[in-house]
This record gives sequence, structure tokens and C-alpha cells, in this order.
Amino acid sequence: MSQNMYENDFLDFLLTMDSTSPFAILKQLNNFVGRYFPLNLTGLFLSEDLSFNGIVFSKSERTNNKVLYIKEDVLDVLKKENRPVMESNKEVFKNKADFGSLLKDGYSLLLSLQETNDFIGVLYFCFSYPIDLREDLAKKFRFITKYVYLLVKNKYYFDKVEQRLAELLTLQTVSDFVNSTLDFEKLLDITLDAIVGLIGLRTCSITIFTDKLFNDIYTRKQKSLVNTVQSSQEIEIDLTKGIYGCLSKNRTSISGISEVNDEIIRLLPSLTLSKGKKVQYIILPITRGDDLFGSINIFDPTLVHLNNIENHFLESFTNQFSIALQNANLYRKQEEMAQKDGLTSLYNHAYFQNRLDLLIKENAMKPLSLIIMDIDDFKKVNDHYGHLTGDKVLKELSSLLLKSTRDGDLVARYGGEEFAILMPCTRNEDAYKLALRLNKKIQDNLILIDDGEPLSVTVSIGVAEYKEEWTKEEFIDKVDQLLYQAKANGKNRVETAL
Ligand code: GH3
Ligand code: MG
Ligand code: MG
Repeated sequence: MSQNMYENDFLDFLLTMDSTSPFAILKQLNNFVGRYFPLNLTGLFLSEDLSFNGIVFSKSERTNNKVLYIKEDVLDVLKKENRPVMESNKEVFKNKADFGSLLKDGYSLLLSLQETNDFIGVLYFCFSYPIDLREDLAKKFRFITKYVYLLVKNKYYFDKVEQRLAELLTLQTVSDFVNSTLDFEKLLDITLDAIVGLIGLRTCSITIFTDKLFNDIYTRKQKSLVNTVQSSQEIEIDLTKGIYGCLSKNRTSISGISEVNDEIIRLLPSLTLSKGKKVQYIILPITRGDDLFGSINIFDPTLVHLNNIENHFLESFTNQFSIALQNANLYRKQEEMAQKDGLTSLYNHAYFQNRLDLLIKENAMKPLSLIIMDIDDFKKVNDHYGHLTGDKVLKELSSLLLKSTRDGDLVARYGGEEFAILMPCTRNEDAYKLALRLNKKIQDNLILIDDGEPLSVTVSIGVAEYKEEWTKEEFIDKVDQLLYQAKANGKNRVETAL
């Protein structure tokens, strides 16, 4: 071993150095310096911002996960004095014992990577014995130090710019959704896809408090919808403790590293995260004014992906998403309103006609039965008690109908005091039985009007099951005729064609 780096070799080495990663730099330095000196290993420790701490073994060129830690006082000297330090290993490393005989009696050359007080880390070479840092050799190491500093910094800024660019592109795409997507489910999907694309993790989810977002339309009280990349599911959430306790109190994002617990598992319903394992997380609150109505939840079981993501970026992302979400929800409400009757909140005539049309055209959910009912002598109710009381009767009757039918049935306000119940997958005999029950229930149902006086109404009902050869109009006509027949036969009764 010559212990003298030849000028030509040295220049060639610098020229061909590959700076794709700190690790690549480390390997090449190890190779080069190992040609001239009794080198045991080469190491690079970079400050927190650049976050790299690695070593390469000289003999095997193989590496493992072991890392060397430099003592604080040595780091302080390097930071302050910015000159090469040659010290015995035992003065330099905290955990030299982990490396057995390899670092037992040797000496290390430590080079501070810094320019104009910007200290970014330490490059070090561990030799079997101290080497003689003559002036020309010292100069070459200074050259190497400067070069490595520039390469690392360069790479760091390059990566940062790339990352910012990806973030900007994502933000732009998300902004586009604000103007383009009014479909609620699609919005959740697209947003999750954007997070996956950006961070490279499928372990993310969006929680929406359905009771807050859909309060006047949905009745899923205190439930929350958790959408993950794979699925969606409803869970109950306690706003007084855990993650959501924290979000409710502070309305700012929370992040950290935690053991996987039940709360985290509930937020990732379709994924298998092992309980007790460590996971890095960022939970961003979705707010509207002062109101918290959900969160974006990002988890990283590998503990590496989230370090590069800027919080302010995720916050703008979440803001864009909440605007889009509110727009989509507004649209959804409008759509629902267009389908519903203002007085009773039942589906309106037009919606009923559309649904029936679709069911017949798609030949779906057969057998299909239909009930139409009309309140008996409703004019008298209006005349005797006034129109407002009449309205109250219509509302009470509507909620009774909703309570007495199944989820799959469609209850509509067919006309002024006429109601229709469309029953998919129901035979005539079952629809008839329901009609008889409803007829009785309505008659027995006492409605208390303003001064506490009880009032009851009766209804006449027509029931039929759809026949293949009928058009929609013929089907409705048939039920109407039966209803008319019920009126003609004395009212407060059910007629069907058996
Ligand atoms: P019948 O037994 O033959 O059905 O007698 P009826 O009095 O119910 O007669 P009809 O069906 O012709 O009258 C319907 C009445 O329902 C007329 C109208 O004033 C009343 N009505 C319709 N829509 C409303 C409403 O929104 N509110 C109130 N209060 N009354 C309504
Ligand atoms: Mg009528
Ligand atoms: Mg009537």
C-alpha cells in the first residue's frame, strides 16, 4: 500500500463519482481510500435534516444495519473547528464495542462537512493505525470533504425540488376536483388515490362524521364513515378521547410515532396492521369554520415515508379537500331535495315515477307490488280543523308509513293526500297483508291537535302486483281502479285483484 494518492487517480476518482445517494458516495469513497490505506470501514453521518447515518465495511464491501455513533464532544469539536481530526477509535465512538476487533485498536480520520458555518455532518475513515496526514494528503482530504459536501447538498436540494414539484402537481389536481367532482364517493376515492400517489402508502383513510355532514338528511347519528383505499365502513367515534378527543380540542393536525392500537386498527378497517408494532402517523382535521367534521388519516408502518412530507402541504391539501367535500355535499343535498316532498319529506311524485320506470325497464326486483292510498273525506278535516291541522295529519301519516315499511320499500307522496308504496321483491299477497295492517294502524292512530283534541283519519287502499304485459301507466291505473273501488265500497278498506 503506497499511502500516497496519485494525482491522476485522485482526479479520475472525483470525475467519475456517482452521487445518486449518500450511500453511493460512501461506497465509492471506501473503495478509493481503501486502495491506499489500511481501511476498516468508511462512514457518513448526516445531520437530522438530511437524515443519513451509514457505514460501509472495507474488506467485504458488504454492509449491514449496524450504525456507529460519534461522541457528542467529538461532534462539537468538528462543528466548531472545522478541521480534520485524527483520534483513536475509543475516543471517537460511543458504540465501538459493537464492532468487536474491527475497531479495537484503530484510529479514525474525521472530516467535518461544512461550508460557511453550515455543518451538515461528518465523513470518517477508520484505519488500523494512524496515518500520516502530510500536507498534500491533507489537501486531498479537504478536497474530498468539500466535494462530498456539495454532492450531498446538491442531492438534497434536488430531491426537495422534486418533492415540492410532486406536491404542487398534486395540489393542482386536487384543486381541479373542487371544480369538477360533485360525486361524493368519487371524491373520497380520488383524494385517497392522490395521497397514495404522493406518499406511496396505501395505509391511509378518510373519516367523515356522517351525523355532522349529512345531519338533516341522514339519520346515521354518531356514526362515522371510514373510507380506505379498499373499502368503506361505518364506525362509532368518541369525540371525548383518543385521536378525536385531541382533534376536537385543538383543531390542528397531530403526528408522531405510536404503537398500533385498537383505535388505529379501526381507522384502517381493511388493512392488517399488527397490533403493538410501531407506526408513524399524521392525522389532519377536516373542518368547516369551527366545526370538526372528519379527518384525513395517514399511517406509515415503515416509518420512512412521512419524513419528507411538509405539514403545510398536507394542510393545504386537506383544505382543498374539505372545500370539495362541502361542495359535493351541497350538491347531494340539492339532489335529495329535488327528490323529496317539502311537507312530508317523503319521495315526491316525480321520483316515484322515475324509480318505477327504472324497475320495470331493468326488469329488476320482481315480483313488484304497489300500494296507493287516499285519505277518506280529507276535505272535511281541512274544513273542520283548518289547513294547518290538515298538514299535521299528512306529516303524522307519513312518518307512520315510514315506520311501518321496510328499508327497501319506497314511500312517496303521490298527490295531495294520496300516498304510494312501491315494494320490490314482494308478492301481491304480502303487499295486501301490509295494506290491511296499515289500514288498521292508521284508523287506530290518534293524532293530537293543538288543543289536545284527538283526531283520527281512515284511508282507502288499492294493491296490485305488476304483470309482465303491463306498461307502467297500466300498472298504476290498475291500482288506482282498485283504490276507486275501495272508495265505492264504503271507504276505509283495502281492495286487491287476487
Ligand atoms: P275522498 O274520501 O273521496 O277521498 O274525499 P276527500 O275529501 O279526501 O276528497 P278528495 O280526495 O277529492 O280531496 C282531497 C283534499 O285534500 C282536497 C285538499 O284540500 C286536501 N289536500 C290536498 N293536499 C293538501 C295539503 O297539502 N294540505 C292540506 N291541509 N290539505 C290538502
Ligand atoms: Mg284524493
Ligand atoms: Mg281523499
